[in-house]
Formats: sequence, structure tokens, C-alpha cells
Amino acid sequence: MRPLTYSRARDVDDALALVAAGPDSAFLAGGTTEVDLLRAGVSRSGHLVDINDLPLTAVEDRPDGGLHIGALARMNDVARAPGVVHRFPAISRALLQGASEQLRNMASLGGNLCQRTRCPYLRDGVSACNKREPGTGCAALDGPNRGHAVLGTSDHCIATHPSDVAVALVAFDAVVHTVGAAGARAIAADDFFLLPGETPEIEHPIGRDELIVGIDVPGTPIARNSVYLKFRDRQSYEFALVSVAAAIEVDAGIVTDVRLALGGVGTKPWRAWRAEAALVGGPATEAAFRRAAAVELADAVGREQNAFKIELAQRAAVRGLNQSLKGIRS
Ligand SMILES: Cc1cc2nc3c(=O)[nH]c(=O)nc-3n(C[C@H](O)[C@H](O)[C@H](O)COP(=O)(O)OP(=O)(O)OC[C@H]3O[C@@H](n4cnc5c(N)ncnc54)[C@H](O)[C@@H]3O)c2cc1C
Repeated sequence: MRPLTYSRARDVDDALALVAAGPDSAFLAGGTTEVDLLRAGVSRSGHLVDINDLPLTAVEDRPDGGLHIGALARMNDVARAPGVVHRFPAISRALLQGASEQLRNMASLGGNLCQRTRCPYLRDGVSACNKREPGTGCAALDGPNRGHAVLGTSDHCIATHPSDVAVALVAFDAVVHTVGAAGARAIAADDFFLLPGETPEIEHPIGRDELIVGIDVPGTPIARNSVYLKFRDRQSYEFALVSVAAAIEVDAGIVTDVRLALGGVGTKPWRAWRAEAALVGGPATEAAFRRAAAVELADAVGREQNAFKIELAQRAAVRGLNQSLKGIRS
């Protein structure tokens, strides 16, 4: 049995000092990921710094039409905040389709962004996994890999990123705010998730002792028409095989603005930049949506069991764009 100690931070400075004091310290928010991984022997944390007394639970409408979400705001509180429901329905829907009612009452937004992949080879504690034990290989490459990624993969890792809300946050250019010993940083959500490359164990550009304090989402009218669709093996309490956050604005039949991001298919929440570029200035037709989705998935790498995701992701993107166009929320 490994020893585990616990302390409760009084404020942000206290949290930073406590976590910096131990080489194996980690922040504890809702604990719905960290405690699971400790039990499984995947997390090697030896000291937990509980941050739940920090004043980081606000969910506020910003004057520019955007949002400020405190890192400790709970998934359910964010999902049901009127400003989120009306200004960013895709964020609300993504949260409500994740986990369970009980988990959403515990789980924080900061913890959600830092959750680890659900790849079974990471979690079983024994299989080859470069994320858990760098240099051991990736058992998913030749093993059962139905749930794994087709975009952003490398020879070292094909695990998907599991968060739903991260997909919507990436679609709407959210910014993650952190503080650490070197000061405060603002990191674009798209840059907060790293591709695995040769170092899949490094998942974020922040240090172990850097605290997420909040997430800002800039105001944008297009988000009001946004949708989040999640396709999975069962309709609740399940991670996405494919998900899509989509929003589109059209003038006289021509696409003037569009946001598209995919979940369940990438090693990170996947902003569909190429599809967006293909759509803007062209006709808002189903044929155009299908062509744009094909452009985005052109470099996808399917394996024995997960190649179906390439077609499923394209259909999901088309459906998401159609629903946003027609004002169908879910
Ligand atoms: C059964 C189950 C089903 C789930 N289904 C889904 C799903 O469908 N969709 C989905 O998106 N998610 C799902 N989740 C994941 C869930 O959303 C996350 O576990 C949760 O959001 C993590 O938040 P937390 O506050 O509990 O984080 P914790 O477990 O407390 O922390 C997670 C990690 O983040 C770090 N951390 C926490 N807060 C901060 C901070 N402010 N700054 C820096 N680091 C921090 C911790 O050190 C730890 O490494 C599921 C989880 C479970 C257990």
C-alpha cells in the first residue's frame, strides 16, 4: 500500500505553496477522476491538496456576451446557468450528456479539462501504455481499439480525449486561465490539449504545480444556434464514440460563419479548422457540409476496429450543421 496524505488549501497562494512543496502532490477538486486513478494505481500522487475552499465557483455572464466559468464550478451548475443555456447551448448540452447526475454535482470544470483518457490500457495498470509508463509501447495499436482515435494519433498513442465540454469550449475559442509560481497565463483551449507525438505522457502545457483558476468564453452571436450531439453505445452514462459541437450562420444561402469541433475521434478535442475553412463563403447545403466533413477526415487513420468512426464522424458533422441551420437543438 502506498501512503497518501491530504491537506486543504485556504486560498490560491496556499494551494500553490502546498502543491509545490511535494514532488508527488496533486490538486484535488471533485475527485471523480483523481480518486479513481489512485485506486487503480495509475495516479502516483502521494499528497492531495484539496482546493474546494477556493472562491472559484462563479459562472458569470460577461458584458461582451461571453462567459466566465470558475475552475471549481460544478458541471451541473454550469450546464443549468441561464447564460450558458441561452448563449452557449452546445456547452450546456455537452455537460448534460456527460457522466451522471451525481457525478456532475461533484465534478468541476477545471478537473474535467484535466481528466485522463478512458483508454483501458492506461487504466488497467499493466498493459503497455506510453502515457502511464513512457517507453513501454501502446497496446491499443494492435489490441482491441474500437473506441480509439482516428485523428491526431501517433505510433506512441491512439487514446481519445474523453471530455465532452472540452469539444464545445474548443469550438467557441475558450481561454483557460492559470496561475503558478511564474505568474498568470491565458491559454487558448485548443492549445491546452497536446497531441501525443512522441511524448503522450505530456497532455497539457501546464506544470503539475500550476492551477487552473477559470475559463473564459468570448461572446459570439453564432453560439446561440449551437448544438452538441453525442453518439455512443448507450444513451446515458457513456463516453462518446463520436460527438460534434456545431454552429452555423448563413446569409442568403451562403455560409458567413461556422464553428465545428469533434469529440471521441481525436487524441484531443478536435477543432475542425479545415472543414470550417471549406464552408465559409460557400453554399449552406447538405452536399457542401458532406464535402467539408470529408476534407476534415481526409487524413484520419482507421485501424482494425475503429475505422467506422471515420464515416460516423462525417455523418455526425453533417447532422450537427443541419440541426444548427434549422434551429433544432438536440
Ligand atoms: C463513471 C464516469 C463517467 C464519466 N462520464 C463522462 C462523460 O461522459 N463525459 C465527460 O466529459 N466526462 C465524464 N466523466 C469524467 C468527469 O467529467 C471527470 O471525472 C470530472 O470532470 C473531473 O472533475 P473533478 O473535479 O472530479 O476532478 P478531480 O478528479 O478532482 O481532478 C482531476 C485531475 O485534474 C486536476 N485538477 C483538478 N482541478 C484542477 C485545477 N483547478 N487546476 C489544475 N489541475 C486540476 C487534478 O489534480 C487531477 O489530476 C466521467 C467520470 C466518471 C467517473
